[in-house]
Amino acid sequence: MKIAGACVANCFFAFLLFNAAASAPAAEADQSSTPVEKKRAQNNPKMETKKIGLVIHGGAGTIERSSMTPEKEGEYRAGLERALGAGYEILKRGGLSLDAVEAAVRVLEDDPHFNAGRGSVFTSAGTNEMDASIMDGKTLGAGAVGSVKHIKNPIVLARLVMEKSPHVMLDCAGAEAFAKANGIELVDQKYFFTQERWDALEKVRAAEKHRASGDGKSYIITDQDRHGTVGAVALDQDGNLAAATSTGGMTNKMPGRIGDTPVIGAGTYANNQTCAVSCTGDGEYFIRVGAAHDVSALMQYRGLKLEEAAQTALDAVKQLGGTGGLIAIDKNGEIALPFNTNGMYRGYVEPNGKLVVEIYR
Ligand code: ASP
Repeated sequence: MKIAGACVANCFFAFLLFNAAASAPAAEADQSSTPVEKKRAQNNPKMETKKIGLVIHGGAGTIERSSMTPEKEGEYRAGLERALGAGYEILKRGGLSLDAVEAAVRVLEDDPHFNAGRGSVFTSAGTNEMDASIMDGKTLGAGAVGSVKHIKNPIVLARLVMEKSPHVMLDCAGAEAFAKANGIELVDQKYFFTQERWDALEKVRAAEKHRASGDGKSYIITDQDRHGTVGAVALDQDGNLAAATSTGGMTNKMPGRIGDTPVIGAGTYANNQTCAVSCTGDGEYFIRVGAAHDVSALMQYRGLKLEEAAQTALDAVKQLGGTGGLIAIDKNGEIALPFNTNGMYRGYVEPNGKLVVEIYR
């Protein structure tokens, strides 16, 4: 595994799968196979090694070791591991990358520690408005929802938009009517409430009030108070890439504000020719750069490798003044996780199937 700066590049040669069309001799089975898998490969010349891969994030920002208790850190790590486990289980069984990214994001939406689904941040009106999107690298099909208020798992609705509507993006009441018509669970806004996010809203409101009145009081507002997002990118055994992203957006955002998360090409992108990408950070900047598509375009049109393309796109965001990070995986299973903040909740699966979770730089 190659580690360069904030980027990790890796090749996933995780396991052996039966493939009737395969012609690779069993002796060429990958070195990282377990003894049992090697034995099976030797006994079956029609088996070949397939690459699969999964990367997730739970938001980038100012994440200080000093302000994190061991209990809290353990809870974040456990949440990320659960999400990785849910997605990887699907890939291991030969499932679709689309199913894997949806499953991983769903776990993070259900976890109140992350700013997506339950635990979403509040708007200036004290409401929760969520954005999500998903993209299939094989067909370039995509689905997205913006500013939904009563959808327990916005990523599930985004997938439904992709698969059951003629559109790419639905928002607000229209998205929720579509959800209802398709049997998706609508929940009361209370479901999304967490005291921590409410306190963050009050802190941000107070800071802005005092800044406006110039009374000299200062407030420490961390990125943790302001935003966060969850996302996943995956490669399945058939070489299909997929990306999914979901968020509550930014604390104290104007009602109706939609960030980069549901904007295909900004917060999410997947193309089997190149890579799958999910972004997190100051959404307005990622939209202006078209960051997720930029990574793919740099690979497709300029021939850059994944790691360089990912860093170049993120640098463009930074040049405008935006902070954040992204996760990406290419068609060969290489991964990149650059970020320009001092931390990003993130995780990936090693070639031997080990789940790796990291938070700090
Ligand atoms: N990108 C998200 C948004 O702007 C927030 C984040 O990822 O922190 O809505």
